[in-house]
Amino acid sequence: MSFLSHLECPECGRNHTADELHTVCPVCGSPLLARYDLSQAKIRLDRDRFQIRPNTMWRWRELLPVRDEAHIITLAEGGAPLIYTPRLGQQLDVRNLYIKDEGRNPTGTFKARGIGMAVSRAVELGVKGFIIPTAGNAGGALAAYAARAGLPAHVFMPKDAPPSNQNEVKLAGAYLHLVPGLISDAGRESAAMAKDSGLFDVSTLKEPYRLEGKKTMGYEIAFDLRWQLPDVILYPKGGGTGLIGIWKAFDEMEQLGWIDSSRPRMVSVQAAGCAPMVKAFEEGRDRCEFFTGARTQAAGLRVPKPLGDRLILRAIRESNGTAVSVTDDEMIAARALIASTEGLQACLEGSATVAALQKLAASDWVEPGERVVCLNTGTGFKDAI
Ligand SMILES: *Cc1c(COP(=O)(O)O)cnc(C)c1O
Ligand SMILES: [Zn+2]
Repeated sequence: MSFLSHLECPECGRNHTADELHTVCPVCGSPLLARYDLSQAKIRLDRDRFQIRPNTMWRWRELLPVRDEAHIITLAEGGAPLIYTPRLGQQLDVRNLYIKDEGRNPTGTFKARGIGMAVSRAVELGVKGFIIPTAGNAGGALAAYAARAGLPAHVFMPKDAPPSNQNEVKLAGAYLHLVPGLISDAGRESAAMAKDSGLFDVSTLKEPYRLEGKKTMGYEIAFDLRWQLPDVILYPKGGGTGLIGIWKAFDEMEQLGWIDSSRPRMVSVQAAGCAPMVKAFEEGRDRCEFFTGARTQAAGLRVPKPLGDRLILRAIRESNGTAVSVTDDEMIAARALIASTEGLQACLEGSATVAALQKLAASDWVEPGERVVCLNTGTGFKDAI
């Protein structure tokens, strides 16, 4: 049973009912956040009872939006391990370093969490087909979960998106639309098709539930570290749902009485060739400008204007965190370092967090004794196909 109570707009403050299909706030256009009756949940839930359940993101189901278990469309996503990486840590002079390896997820990336959640909740609310613009991995995940649900999916991808993503979409029987340009161009085309097709648009933050899937990473980090949050979390930011979701999970857990008020410093990592967040952070703005000429091999980071920019910037600043960019060459070097020290095949996006940590440790922004978590958001094997 879910403690979901309503949807809240973080910008205009209005509430909306959770039990009908919503996209963004109908009043102001902001992304909506799912809210739960956490005071009831606090009475009824015991944080130490969850470990007896299977280790997937559905372990936290009372704090997730799906009301009836029968509607859950799952490939056993979530539950990715937090791996202690001392040999890598030694190279960076960060003794307490962990990598949360999201490459273990179905479809090879953490997109499975968000899409698995959005598809499940949409099925519960009666949706009969899906549409998505994507840099690559979210499209692969949507194709998989739509297949699992027995529903059609239309995926709009830049025509230079990684071949592994194009293949997985076609294999899973979804319609692949290749678009010249970037994810923002794919977004324009898919929005046009969504308007008169009756297909539900599961773009990042244009519906409230992908965020709920991604937030389970925050619950898992706290659980794995026995409810003592780390000092620093580095996140490779595309649309930013993971960072916003982890931050939301920490808030919820504090209200549940599971953790105290201390928080990690949240670091948003971007590619130097597409770094709108670094610019906005450094200039003290609360929104990003469109980053023209976005270029990076790390497809998941090629998002020139994230819809959730306000929420991301707020989380970074509230946490005393920062925004960092690294070059593609630095990512490639970090990928080799991770593999050679720890045997872990990270994706380029995940490798970017280690490259960023290298800089932050060298400048003493991260101190040698601090406990640090880098998110490896996908498997490196997908880059090799
Ligand atoms: C999508 C993606 C990201 C970025 O995630 P957001 O939630 O959009 O910030 C990072 N890494 C990989 C591998 C991705 O597929
Ligand atoms: Zn609003």
